[in-house]
Amino acid sequence: MNTGITNRESTDESFRDSLATVDKEGKRKWIYAWKPKGKLYTMRKWLSYLYFIIFFGLPFVKINGRPLFMFNIPQGKFIVFGKIFWPQDFFIFGLAMITFIFFIILFTAAFGRLFCGWACPQTNFMEMMFRRVEFMVLGNANEQKALKNAPWTSNKIFKLSLKHVLFFVLSFIIANFFLAYIIGIDDLKKIITEPVGEHIAGLSSLLIFSGVFYGVYAFFREQACTVVCPYGRLQSVLLDKNSMIVAYDYKRGEPRGMKRKNQPAELQLGDCIDCFQCVRVCPTGIDIRNGVQMECVGCTACIDACNDVMDKIHKPRGLIRYASENSIATGEPLHYTTRMKIYTGLCLLVLTLLSVLLFTRKDIDVTVMRTPGQLFQERGADSVSNLYNIKVMNKTDKDIPLTIKVMSMNGSVQVVGKPYIHVPKEGQGSGSFFLILPKKDIYNRKTELKLALYEGDKKILTETTSFLGPVQ
Ligand code: SF4
Ligand code: SF4
Repeated sequence: MNTGITNRESTDESFRDSLATVDKEGKRKWIYAWKPKGKLYTMRKWLSYLYFIIFFGLPFVKINGRPLFMFNIPQGKFIVFGKIFWPQDFFIFGLAMITFIFFIILFTAAFGRLFCGWACPQTNFMEMMFRRVEFMVLGNANEQKALKNAPWTSNKIFKLSLKHVLFFVLSFIIANFFLAYIIGIDDLKKIITEPVGEHIAGLSSLLIFSGVFYGVYAFFREQACTVVCPYGRLQSVLLDKNSMIVAYDYKRGEPRGMKRKNQPAELQLGDCIDCFQCVRVCPTGIDIRNGVQMECVGCTACIDACNDVMDKIHKPRGLIRYASENSIATGEPLHYTTRMKIYTGLCLLVLTLLSVLLFTRKDIDVTVMRTPGQLFQERGADSVSNLYNIKVMNKTDKDIPLTIKVMSMNGSVQVVGKPYIHVPKEGQGSGSFFLILPKKDIYNRKTELKLALYEGDKKILTETTSFLGPVQ
């Protein structure tokens, strides 16, 4: 007898070997996700507004005339929080990458795909911008499906054209701002306002980026998360049974099914009424009741949908909720566990270390070395000098006329051939100088001393070096 009841344990595992978006013939199955509504969706919507303000606003923010962020890969020039980084600072980027990977491993082990659902730009643009435009123009999921199967009429052509025009316009706007993060908003303005012929490369980049974004949001969509995204693919190794995920409480929900008249009394049904609302709203087309799956982007649409159903059938909310596999198995609520606290602490620690490194990084790098093959020179009866070579890397965007003074002793500096060392902006300067000390202050063959480097009256750096003198 078909009771209409399914038990999770009895469902086959074929979903593990197939993608929800690809049919048996290997053809794309288009996902017509229902429009989510609920507390979590509203929270995500407001958060997405904040992200959009940040994304579209940051290129206009400048510190000392420099963009707050710029990642000019073609020129190898990066600006982070208004500080310029050059290829010479590559070790910081290496460290940033290691920190980032470390952070991802810890964060994902503790909080699962929280980032994908709540902060990932792909999810936010897809779900909170493009899909909402689609709902606006084409209607809800059923209307979209009906339109797809309808014959070509002027109404269908108009609606689909409008959707694609809007998608391209949005992609073009995003591409402009994306490019602004690479070349800076000022150069972007030049591309927009100056004659086309002068900015062929810039305009081509704009069109390529627009095309890629349009292709992703209009056609590729959720597959960017389920097939391409390396972070998504890593979930299987990063998650464990204690990770926080969007999970279905099978203990409470099974056996699932709609209560029917004449149902045998011994059949004790779980809270899941098998209404498929959680599946219909899923943007990746999966059934979360099958357990943790790589395609789940943690968008929480199924939580909202199921909570709505639970309200209607007067059952407690949370049949689908944030939980760990272990907490579902034991029935324990998800706590902010010691493990999560340790991981959060470690994440904050590595982030702090990187921030300290970024903020304490010097704008000027200096190397001072005694000229090889030279010992010391007698200067009259009472002074001795050493000859030094100096190399200076200027990471700022202004020229620096560099002068040198002795800090820790009486003495003077004489730059060879010029009054100061010229260090061009975003470039390198070099020179030689004599360091002259009074003989009476030299007690050892080797004396450690400090030099101060000045830009005008402003001391910008101190450097330690050694001075060779005659043996007394
Ligand atoms: S929405 Fe809730 S009740 Fe409906 S099928 Fe999904 S888990 Fe079951
Ligand atoms: S299973 Fe739920 S949380 Fe995961 S992608 Fe689908 S709707 Fe979002």
